Amino acid sequence: MALIVQKFGGSSVADATGLARVAERIAATHRAGNQVVAVVSAMGDTTDDLLDLAAQVTPRPPAREMDILLTAGERISMSLLAMAIDARGVPVRSYTGQQAGVLTDTTYGKAQIVKLAPERIVQSLDDGQVAIVAGFQGVNEANDVTTLGRGGSDTTAVALAAALKADVCEIYTDVDGVFTADPRVVSSARRIAEITPEETLELASHGAKILHLRAVEFARRYSVPLHVRSSFSHKEGTWVRQPTKEDPMEEPVIAGIAHDASQGKITVQGVPDRPGVAARLFQVCASVGANVDTIVQNVSVDSQRTDISFTLSTQEAEATMHALRDAQDDLGYQDLIYTEAIGILSLVGAGMRTHTGISSTLFGALYEEGINIHMISTSEIRISVVVDIDELQRAVRAVHSAFDLDASETEAVVYGGTGR
Ligand code: ASP
Ligand code: MG
Repeated sequence: MALIVQKFGGSSVADATGLARVAERIAATHRAGNQVVAVVSAMGDTTDDLLDLAAQVTPRPPAREMDILLTAGERISMSLLAMAIDARGVPVRSYTGQQAGVLTDTTYGKAQIVKLAPERIVQSLDDGQVAIVAGFQGVNEANDVTTLGRGGSDTTAVALAAALKADVCEIYTDVDGVFTADPRVVSSARRIAEITPEETLELASHGAKILHLRAVEFARRYSVPLHVRSSFSHKEGTWVRQPTKEDPMEEPVIAGIAHDASQGKITVQGVPDRPGVAARLFQVCASVGANVDTIVQNVSVDSQRTDISFTLSTQEAEATMHALRDAQDDLGYQDLIYTEAIGILSLVGAGMRTHTGISSTLFGALYEEGINIHMISTSEIRISVVVDIDELQRAVRAVHSAFDLDASETEAVVYGGTGR
């Protein structure tokens, strides 16, 4: 008997048919003698619809009310799923985040889990019931309901799996696992059989819509093995886990390619080239909460002034531009330019630590396609390049082939959803 946490995303429970399919799978796992905790997201586009509705009521909804509104989505799916499982003769109880003991800090909209007290879940399992838990939500010390940020159901599932010491956390989605590139862009993308949490973090933080970042962090910190797979098929998916001595994993040089079209680029022109200016500049960015990614500073020609460019989420661009404009006198720069017409391609692989020639293959592939590179940044296991947005998808396909990642036959099936 194993303790299995199963997480079902919104596209897996988009309608009554989806709920029935998921209920069937949970019931089968339970009948096979396992203890099952199922974490569920809101049905289909429910969360987006609720956000739209709030925007129609007021342009500035109070964060506390927004959170209680959004948690309604997961309450709908959790209770319907419990009904569907009950109808199959399997004992079941559903729980809100609050009932499940998901305790968070007070940051509405992107609360962090500070503690888990899943007594009621443990009791349900002891009583032989399937426990369904509403994803993406918790409760703060003031007993107010909070949400964990978009895509946060993954984090609920992994955190619960860690707290309950589950044998595995299965993440059910609308594709058969993690692919070497987004199958919606590269039809020859290959399913990755095994990948480390570090590689998964790099892919997920650079635009691959695989898993909620904090979920991967939890999985790494508490060594929770994740199995990312489709709720529409019974195929083996992708295992996200740390290799061990007894069970080393085959380590390919390149795990996969992520791409991100949601970043923009700010160029600050004519910045005085003297110590302390970059520090001031990025303090201004940090003061509005901007997450700056790739940074490039040009060599100054007359050694008086230089240009500094950096990428950041388009959502943070307006506030950052505003703050930088306000600080123009203080920073002493000459001009400020913003563009959204960029895309970022990131090549990720733990094998980069020990292999050479990766960057020349990458740059060579882009050169052959006539694609110009605007910026480059690297980590130990990642190389990212900034290119024109119009060339991003072509770049991903070219690099995918250059590293021999193409599957021999098409395996990537997109069963539903939009990939968000
Ligand atoms: N329903 C929430 C969202 O759409 C949480 C989730 O799906 O994980 O972001
Ligand atoms: Mg969702």
